[in-house]
Amino acid sequence: MIFIFIDAFKPEYLEKTVFLRELAENNLSGSLEVTFGFTSIIPSLLTGCYPDTHRKIDLFDIDNEAKKKSKSKYLVNLKLLMKNNRFFFTPLNSNYYKYFKISQDKAWPQKNSLSVKNLFDILEENNKTFVSIDWPNIFVSRKPKLFFKNDCKTILGLTKKLLNEKKPDFLFVHFMDLEIAHKHGTLSNELKEKLTEIDNAVKELSNLDNDLIIFSDHSMDEVREKFNLLEKIDALNLKFGKDFVYFLGSTIARFWFKSEEAKKSVEGLLRSLEEGRIINFKEYNLPKTCDLIFLANFGTFFYPNLFNSDYKAMHGWDPKIQKTIYVIKNLKGKKDTHIINLLPTILDILKIKKPKIDGKSLL
Ligand SMILES: [Zn+2]
Repeated sequence: MIFIFIDAFKPEYLEKTVFLRELAENNLSGSLEVTFGFTSIIPSLLTGCYPDTHRKIDLFDIDNEAKKKSKSKYLVNLKLLMKNNRFFFTPLNSNYYKYFKISQDKAWPQKNSLSVKNLFDILEENNKTFVSIDWPNIFVSRKPKLFFKNDCKTILGLTKKLLNEKKPDFLFVHFMDLEIAHKHGTLSNELKEKLTEIDNAVKELSNLDNDLIIFSDHSMDEVREKFNLLEKIDALNLKFGKDFVYFLGSTIARFWFKSEEAKKSVEGLLRSLEEGRIINFKEYNLPKTCDLIFLANFGTFFYPNLFNSDYKAMHGWDPKIQKTIYVIKNLKGKKDTHIINLLPTILDILKIKKPKIDGKSLL
């Protein structure tokens, strides 16, 4: 089976990807709802469970010890590599960085990368071989290797080579070119060019295996309004670290309170704002890893934010509104689904017994 992960695919892009559109029209396809948050999505894909089981929402979680951390990307990732922890990342460039720690250090195909069994663990248990090409890591079953170029052409070349050499039962490949829409927007010529490249890559790969699944981890939409939430929080005159800790992303703000007064004051502010809403953890099956989450309205972007990102297009808004797509070759029909249902579907196609999970197979 070839499992193609196209990062940041907006459903409207199908108008510009001739091959993929036809593939979607003639095979099982539909809109795909993903989980709330950022680092929650791939764990839900790979475990077939909602975030309240695997407990991931974002890469950065509160560090109750508030330890000082290196901001050097090079040093941090070298240290990870030396421990064979291959989930590489960019440290936050913020004075508040010490209040946070990463919630993930192992790459998805590594043993025990999540607290719950994932697809790669299940494949191994069932004596199936796998290859994962997910920049900057290649895994041939559990054996890792680094690679450095992450453009479509390089990834396609590596995929064809490894399919031919290793003949794995399952190949996972991640194309990340469409992420440029953050910088250039979803209607730019830069993006159009990338869409053509991706479409051609999918076409080439689809000729190599009858079992083919294509999915994206989220859509991408234009930023319509910037909102300075930081200024509003600052005006409360609460002390970061003493009264509360918050992680201000570009579409989501998470809060941890140190006192009842701080909680009341922040809740009062957030309830009065029209630019977003406090979400219900249960509604999105989220673990209670923080006290409160404030979500920006669709199209609204919190700026400034902890990433210092100023983007033209973004994802991470309400996943019940901002949906992406999936296609499964050799099955028929139109069906909208949730990302937790992909794992049981993959296991059914590979004729592997399903563990007890939240997701239900599409077969
Ligand atoms: Zn993504």
